Amino acid sequence: MQKRNELYRGKAKTVFHTDDPELLILEFRNDTSAFDGEKIEQLDRKGEVNNKFNHFIMNHLEQAGVKTQVNALLSDTESLVKKLDMIPVECVVRNVAAGSLCRRLGVEEGMTLNPPTFEFFLKNDALHDPMINDYHIISFGWASEAQIAGMKALTFKVNDVLTQLFDQGDMILVDYKLEFGVDNEGNIVLGDEFTPDGCRLWDKTTRNKMDKDRFRQGLGSVVETYIEVANRLGLAL
Ligand code: ADP
Ligand code: UDP
Repeated sequence: MQKRNELYRGKAKTVFHTDDPELLILEFRNDTSAFDGEKIEQLDRKGEVNNKFNHFIMNHLEQAGVKTQVNALLSDTESLVKKLDMIPVECVVRNVAAGSLCRRLGVEEGMTLNPPTFEFFLKNDALHDPMINDYHIISFGWASEAQIAGMKALTFKVNDVLTQLFDQGDMILVDYKLEFGVDNEGNIVLGDEFTPDGCRLWDKTTRNKMDKDRFRQGLGSVVETYIEVANRLGLAL
Protein backbone atom coordinates (compact mmCIF):
# COMPACT_ATOMS: atom_id res chain seq x y z
CA MET A 1 0.00 0.00 0.00
CA GLN A 2 1.41 3.36 -1.09
CA LYS A 3 0.63 6.75 0.46
CA ARG A 4 -0.47 9.22 -2.22
CA ASN A 5 -1.52 12.88 -2.32
CA GLU A 6 -3.28 14.81 0.42
CA LEU A 7 -7.07 14.76 0.10
CA TYR A 8 -8.00 17.07 2.98
CA ARG A 9 -6.36 18.85 5.90
CA GLY A 10 -8.74 19.37 8.83
CA LYS A 11 -8.17 20.97 12.22
CA ALA A 12 -6.61 17.88 13.81
CA LYS A 13 -6.07 15.30 11.09
CA THR A 14 -4.81 15.12 7.52
CA VAL A 15 -6.37 12.66 5.10
CA PHE A 16 -4.30 11.06 2.31
CA HIS A 17 -5.23 8.96 -0.70
CA THR A 18 -3.51 5.60 -1.13
CA ASP A 19 -2.96 3.50 -4.25
CA ASP A 20 -6.08 1.55 -3.21
CA PRO A 21 -9.16 3.66 -4.08
CA GLU A 22 -11.06 2.04 -1.20
CA LEU A 23 -8.54 3.04 1.49
CA LEU A 24 -7.36 6.32 3.01
CA ILE A 25 -4.69 7.24 5.53
CA LEU A 26 -5.69 9.37 8.52
CA GLU A 27 -2.74 11.21 10.02
CA PHE A 28 -3.39 12.43 13.56
CA ARG A 29 -1.49 15.67 14.17
CA ASN A 30 -0.53 17.33 17.46
CA ASP A 31 -2.78 20.30 16.63
CA THR A 32 -5.49 20.78 19.21
CA SER A 33 -8.28 23.25 18.60
CA ALA A 34 -11.31 24.51 20.47
CA PHE A 35 -14.00 27.16 20.08
CA ASP A 36 -14.24 26.67 16.29
CA GLY A 37 -10.50 26.95 15.83
CA GLU A 38 -10.13 30.15 17.88
CA LYS A 39 -7.80 28.39 20.34
CA ILE A 40 -5.14 26.25 18.66
CA GLU A 41 -2.06 24.67 20.23
CA GLN A 42 0.39 21.92 19.44
CA LEU A 43 0.43 19.35 22.21
CA ASP A 44 3.43 17.03 22.24
CA ARG A 45 2.53 13.36 21.50
CA LYS A 46 -1.19 14.08 21.12
CA GLY A 47 -1.27 12.81 17.53
CA GLU A 48 0.28 9.52 18.54
CA VAL A 49 -1.91 9.11 21.61
CA ASN A 50 -5.13 9.83 19.70
CA ASN A 51 -4.15 7.63 16.76
CA LYS A 52 -3.50 4.61 18.98
CA PHE A 53 -6.49 5.35 21.21
CA ASN A 54 -8.80 5.64 18.21
CA HIS A 55 -7.52 2.37 16.74
CA PHE A 56 -8.11 0.62 20.07
CA ILE A 57 -11.68 1.94 20.42
CA MET A 58 -12.63 1.26 16.78
CA ASN A 59 -11.39 -2.33 17.14
CA HIS A 60 -13.38 -2.73 20.35
CA LEU A 61 -16.52 -1.46 18.61
CA GLU A 62 -15.91 -3.69 15.59
CA GLN A 63 -15.72 -6.70 17.91
CA ALA A 64 -19.02 -5.62 19.45
CA GLY A 65 -20.66 -5.66 16.01
CA VAL A 66 -20.44 -1.97 15.01
CA LYS A 67 -19.26 -1.46 11.41
CA THR A 68 -16.29 0.92 11.51
CA GLN A 69 -13.68 2.33 9.16
CA VAL A 70 -10.88 0.43 10.93
CA ASN A 71 -8.28 -1.32 8.77
CA ALA A 72 -4.77 -1.10 10.26
CA LEU A 73 -2.46 0.94 12.46
CA LEU A 74 0.31 2.08 10.10
CA SER A 75 2.63 4.12 12.31
CA ASP A 76 2.61 6.12 15.54
CA THR A 77 0.45 8.82 13.97
CA GLU A 78 -1.18 7.16 10.94
CA SER A 79 -4.06 4.73 10.46
CA LEU A 80 -5.32 3.04 7.34
CA VAL A 81 -9.12 3.34 7.10
CA LYS A 82 -11.94 2.52 4.72
CA LYS A 83 -12.77 5.44 2.47
CA LEU A 84 -16.28 6.60 3.28
CA ASP A 85 -18.63 9.08 1.72
CA MET A 86 -18.99 11.16 4.88
CA ILE A 87 -22.43 12.40 5.95
CA PRO A 88 -21.94 16.06 6.98
CA VAL A 89 -23.62 15.74 10.38
CA GLU A 90 -22.35 15.09 13.88
CA CYS A 91 -24.27 12.67 16.09
CA VAL A 92 -24.04 13.54 19.80
CA VAL A 93 -25.28 11.37 22.66
CA ARG A 94 -25.35 12.75 26.19
CA ASN A 95 -25.54 10.64 29.32
CA VAL A 96 -24.87 13.58 31.64
CA ALA A 97 -25.54 17.28 31.03
CA ALA A 98 -22.43 19.30 30.08
CA GLY A 99 -21.09 21.73 27.51
CA SER A 100 -23.40 23.35 24.98
CA LEU A 101 -26.49 21.59 26.37
CA CYS A 102 -26.06 23.47 29.66
CA ARG A 103 -25.42 26.77 27.89
CA ARG A 104 -28.42 26.31 25.60
CA LEU A 105 -31.02 24.98 28.06
CA GLY A 106 -29.75 26.46 31.31
CA VAL A 107 -29.49 23.06 32.99
CA GLU A 108 -26.86 22.33 35.59
CA GLU A 109 -23.68 20.49 34.57
CA GLY A 110 -23.66 16.99 36.00
CA MET A 111 -27.38 16.18 35.80
CA THR A 112 -27.85 12.53 34.76
CA LEU A 113 -29.95 12.19 31.61
CA ASN A 114 -32.17 9.14 31.75
CA PRO A 115 -32.75 8.17 29.01
CA PRO A 116 -29.66 9.61 27.33
CA THR A 117 -30.44 12.35 24.84
CA PHE A 118 -29.44 12.63 21.18
CA GLU A 119 -28.65 15.67 19.03
CA PHE A 120 -27.63 16.30 15.42
CA PHE A 121 -25.27 19.14 14.46
CA LEU A 122 -24.36 20.26 10.96
CA LYS A 123 -20.62 19.99 10.24
CA ASN A 124 -19.97 23.56 9.17
CA ASP A 125 -17.24 25.58 10.88
CA ALA A 126 -18.30 28.86 9.23
CA LEU A 127 -21.77 28.48 10.78
CA HIS A 128 -20.33 27.16 14.10
CA ASP A 129 -21.84 23.67 13.67
CA PRO A 130 -25.51 24.62 14.26
CA MET A 131 -27.90 22.13 15.85
CA ILE A 132 -30.25 20.60 13.27
CA ASN A 133 -33.05 18.04 13.31
CA ASP A 134 -34.07 15.02 11.24
CA TYR A 135 -36.28 17.14 8.98
CA HIS A 136 -33.40 19.47 8.06
CA ILE A 137 -31.27 16.44 7.17
CA ILE A 138 -33.95 15.05 4.87
CA SER A 139 -35.07 18.40 3.36
CA PHE A 140 -31.50 19.35 2.45
CA GLY A 141 -30.59 15.84 1.30
CA TRP A 142 -27.71 15.31 3.73
CA ALA A 143 -28.98 11.78 4.49
CA SER A 144 -32.10 9.66 3.96
CA GLU A 145 -34.62 8.64 6.61
CA ALA A 146 -33.14 5.11 6.64
CA GLN A 147 -29.63 6.52 7.05
CA ILE A 148 -30.80 8.72 9.93
CA ALA A 149 -32.32 5.67 11.61
CA GLY A 150 -29.06 3.78 11.03
CA MET A 151 -26.92 6.56 12.52
CA LYS A 152 -29.14 6.80 15.61
CA ALA A 153 -29.17 3.04 16.17
CA LEU A 154 -25.37 2.80 15.82
CA THR A 155 -24.75 5.85 18.02
CA PHE A 156 -26.82 4.27 20.83
CA LYS A 157 -25.16 0.87 20.28
CA VAL A 158 -21.79 2.63 20.70
CA ASN A 159 -23.17 4.15 23.91
CA ASP A 160 -24.03 0.71 25.33
CA VAL A 161 -20.58 -0.65 24.49
CA LEU A 162 -18.49 2.33 25.55
CA THR A 163 -20.33 3.34 28.74
CA GLN A 164 -19.54 -0.18 29.95
CA LEU A 165 -15.91 -0.05 28.77
CA PHE A 166 -15.22 3.31 30.45
CA ASP A 167 -17.10 2.24 33.58
CA GLN A 168 -14.65 -0.65 33.92
CA GLY A 169 -11.90 1.98 33.93
CA ASP A 170 -13.75 3.98 36.65
CA MET A 171 -14.79 6.69 34.19
CA ILE A 172 -18.16 8.17 33.24
CA LEU A 173 -18.81 8.64 29.52
CA VAL A 174 -20.59 12.00 29.77
CA ASP A 175 -21.14 12.71 26.06
CA TYR A 176 -19.50 12.15 22.69
CA LYS A 177 -19.66 13.02 19.00
CA LEU A 178 -19.65 10.50 16.17
CA GLU A 179 -19.43 10.94 12.40
CA PHE A 180 -20.69 8.35 9.94
CA GLY A 181 -20.14 7.72 6.27
CA VAL A 182 -21.46 5.40 3.60
CA ASP A 183 -19.26 2.61 2.20
CA ASN A 184 -19.33 1.34 -1.39
CA GLU A 185 -22.05 -1.18 -0.51
CA GLY A 186 -24.31 1.51 0.95
CA ASN A 187 -23.71 0.56 4.60
CA ILE A 188 -23.61 3.21 7.32
CA VAL A 189 -20.12 2.96 8.82
CA LEU A 190 -18.53 4.74 11.79
CA GLY A 191 -15.75 7.03 10.54
CA ASP A 192 -13.53 9.86 11.77
CA GLU A 193 -12.40 9.19 15.35
CA PHE A 194 -13.32 8.33 18.88
CA THR A 195 -10.76 9.94 21.20
CA PRO A 196 -10.82 12.15 24.31
CA ASP A 197 -10.85 15.09 21.86
CA GLY A 198 -14.43 14.24 20.85
CA CYS A 199 -16.01 13.04 24.06
CA ARG A 200 -16.29 13.97 27.73
CA LEU A 201 -14.96 11.56 30.34
CA TRP A 202 -15.08 12.14 34.08
CA ASP A 203 -13.38 10.17 36.80
CA LYS A 204 -16.15 8.17 38.50
CA THR A 205 -15.12 9.11 42.04
CA THR A 206 -13.68 12.63 41.80
CA ARG A 207 -15.55 13.71 38.63
CA ASN A 208 -12.25 15.20 37.41
CA LYS A 209 -12.32 15.98 33.69
CA MET A 210 -10.24 13.59 31.58
CA ASP A 211 -10.99 14.90 28.08
CA LYS A 212 -10.60 17.96 25.84
CA ASP A 213 -12.30 20.17 28.44
CA ARG A 214 -8.83 20.16 30.08
CA PHE A 215 -7.64 22.04 26.98
CA ARG A 216 -10.78 24.17 26.54
CA GLN A 217 -10.68 25.27 30.19
CA GLY A 218 -6.88 25.54 30.50
CA LEU A 219 -6.70 22.85 33.21
CA GLY A 220 -3.32 21.53 31.98
CA SER A 221 -1.94 17.96 31.71
CA VAL A 222 -4.03 17.32 28.59
CA VAL A 223 -2.01 14.57 26.89
CA GLU A 224 -0.90 13.10 30.23
CA THR A 225 -4.57 12.67 31.15
CA TYR A 226 -5.43 11.11 27.76
CA ILE A 227 -2.63 8.59 28.42
CA GLU A 228 -4.14 7.85 31.84
CA VAL A 229 -7.52 7.21 30.16
CA ALA A 230 -5.84 4.75 27.77
CA ASN A 231 -3.94 3.05 30.58
CA ARG A 232 -7.14 2.57 32.57
CA LEU A 233 -8.62 0.73 29.57
CA GLY A 234 -5.58 -1.55 29.43
CA LEU A 235 -3.89 0.25 26.52
CA ALA A 236 -0.29 1.04 27.42
CA LEU A 237 0.90 4.28 25.76
P1 ADP B 1 -12.34 18.78 10.70
O1 ADP B 1 -12.69 18.54 9.26
O2 ADP B 1 -13.58 18.84 11.56
O3 ADP B 1 -11.42 19.93 10.92
P2 ADP B 1 -10.36 16.65 11.11
O4 ADP B 1 -9.14 17.46 11.27
O5 ADP B 1 -10.57 15.55 12.09
O6 ADP B 1 -11.72 17.46 11.24
O7 ADP B 1 -10.38 16.11 9.62
C1 ADP B 1 -10.70 14.83 9.28
C2 ADP B 1 -11.63 14.85 8.08
O8 ADP B 1 -11.65 13.56 7.50
C3 ADP B 1 -13.09 15.17 8.48
O9 ADP B 1 -13.63 16.07 7.54
C4 ADP B 1 -13.80 13.81 8.39
O10 ADP B 1 -15.17 13.95 8.04
C5 ADP B 1 -12.99 13.09 7.31
N1 ADP B 1 -12.96 11.63 7.47
C6 ADP B 1 -12.80 10.97 8.62
N2 ADP B 1 -12.85 9.64 8.45
C7 ADP B 1 -13.03 9.44 7.11
C8 ADP B 1 -13.17 8.27 6.30
N3 ADP B 1 -13.11 7.05 6.82
N4 ADP B 1 -13.39 8.45 4.97
C9 ADP B 1 -13.45 9.71 4.43
N5 ADP B 1 -13.32 10.84 5.15
C10 ADP B 1 -13.11 10.72 6.49
N1 UDP C 1 -17.84 17.61 19.93
C1 UDP C 1 -16.84 17.37 19.00
N2 UDP C 1 -16.73 18.17 17.91
C2 UDP C 1 -17.55 19.22 17.70
C3 UDP C 1 -18.57 19.48 18.64
C4 UDP C 1 -18.68 18.67 19.74
O1 UDP C 1 -16.09 16.41 19.16
O2 UDP C 1 -17.41 19.92 16.69
C5 UDP C 1 -18.00 16.74 21.11
C6 UDP C 1 -17.53 17.41 22.39
O3 UDP C 1 -16.18 17.11 22.66
C7 UDP C 1 -18.46 16.79 23.42
C8 UDP C 1 -19.74 16.50 22.64
O4 UDP C 1 -19.37 16.47 21.27
O5 UDP C 1 -17.93 15.56 23.88
C9 UDP C 1 -20.82 17.51 22.87
O6 UDP C 1 -20.29 18.80 22.62
P1 UDP C 1 -21.14 20.10 23.00
O7 UDP C 1 -22.32 20.19 22.08
O8 UDP C 1 -21.42 20.11 24.45
O9 UDP C 1 -20.22 21.33 22.59
P2 UDP C 1 -18.98 22.04 23.28
O10 UDP C 1 -19.25 22.23 24.72
O11 UDP C 1 -17.83 21.11 23.00
O12 UDP C 1 -18.89 23.33 22.52
